[in-house]
Amino acid sequence: MDFILSTEHEILRKSVRDFAENEIKPIAGDLDEREEFSYETMKAMADLGLFGMFVSEEYGGQGMDYIGYIIATEEIARVDGSHAATVAAGNSLGIGPLYYYGNEEQKRKYLPPACRGETLWAFGLTEPNAGSDAGNTQTTAVLDGDEWVINGSKIFITNGATDITAGAIVLTKTGTRRDGKSELTTIIVETGTPGFEAKAMHKKMMWRASNTSELYFEDCRVPRDSILGPSGDGFHHMLGTLDGGRLSIGAMGLGGAQGAFELGLKYARERVQFGKSIMSFQVNSFKLADMATEIECARLLLYKACWLRDQNMPFGKEAAMAKLYCSEVMGRCVDHAVQLHGGYGLMKEYDIERFYRDHKLLEIGEGTSEVQRIVISRQIGAV
Ligand SMILES: Cc1cc2nc3c(=O)[nH]c(=O)nc-3n(C[C@H](O)[C@H](O)[C@H](O)COP(=O)(O)OP(=O)(O)OC[C@H]3O[C@@H](n4cnc5c(N)ncnc54)[C@H](O)[C@@H]3O)c2cc1C
Repeated sequence: MDFILSTEHEILRKSVRDFAENEIKPIAGDLDEREEFSYETMKAMADLGLFGMFVSEEYGGQGMDYIGYIIATEEIARVDGSHAATVAAGNSLGIGPLYYYGNEEQKRKYLPPACRGETLWAFGLTEPNAGSDAGNTQTTAVLDGDEWVINGSKIFITNGATDITAGAIVLTKTGTRRDGKSELTTIIVETGTPGFEAKAMHKKMMWRASNTSELYFEDCRVPRDSILGPSGDGFHHMLGTLDGGRLSIGAMGLGGAQGAFELGLKYARERVQFGKSIMSFQVNSFKLADMATEIECARLLLYKACWLRDQNMPFGKEAAMAKLYCSEVMGRCVDHAVQLHGGYGLMKEYDIERFYRDHKLLEIGEGTSEVQRIVISRQIGAV
């Protein structure tokens, strides 16, 4: 066994960490307060090569392994959840399905600008009445001559309504299978297509500087060849995309937990009560010991899942475990870290307040913790 990361991965971690510390950390609180998506930071993240890391060079990507992408996401999440969300969704949910399921023409058309970070793509799965039960999609696509006609709506879609959003990959119902279940197909819908409207959602508790949107389709017509893969493959695309997405949510949990730990450690060292650093009270140092231990376990679990993926081995169970564990570890870490901060931890001047809010989505997005436990139960034969 080898637990040492390659020199290339270590260099990547350092460069993303330096970038996150210098370019994102100073502005993250303000953007969160103003609910503002920063196009400037988006461009800087793209210039650093954070989009299309796992895409081969022929389509404009970096040709890196998945673990590299996960380390980069972890490092952005160590300072801010919103920016990490833009990167994670932009790659796993936007670029990922185009790269893995698109045909040659679609890949050549859409991937290079997305890998340069000039465009963002969204993945539209969730609907007002189809969340955890995403297979129950009610958005329909009906073939009419050489066009698909799409009707329906999607909700909570990350990166769906930015100024640089090139479109969405949308899960639609295209029929009913012999077993009575819906036949699902993923369709590419470009921004500006008549009948397609994306509206930004506001007043979020968390990820306030990331873009979340509602997508509306009203007799929206797209060419017949806009589908990803063969028609009817949508369920498979959904599961495959979510497996990869779970690794990136795991990375956000791990990075957020690491960031919360470091904030808690620093504060506990500096804060003096009863004439001593509060760190000298064992109840507080034990909190930090527990956080460090859980973070170590989370990192091992997540990196193992990524390693399996990079070896082209089955990784669905490990991805669900990593997503579940990393997001819940971040929950315990932000709770401990706020507790260490006392009343100051509840004030917006302190970054830990934002971490506390940002964490909650990780237990809900891309399959809630309950859904992860269902996925794991199935994989271990506990159903
Ligand atoms: C900021 C943000 C960004 C998002 N980005 C995207 C995106 O880019 N693309 C996208 O498609 N979606 C996105 N989502 C949607 C997200 O994936 C869903 O919110 C999530 O899957 C849960 O669906 P729901 O909110 O409808 O909750 P529901 O499915 O209604 O669940 C409500 C509760 O019931 C529980 N529950 C449901 N079914 C079961 C069951 N069988 N057993 C036990 N408990 C169950 C859930 O665990 C949860 O606690 C985003 C959401 C947010 C808030």
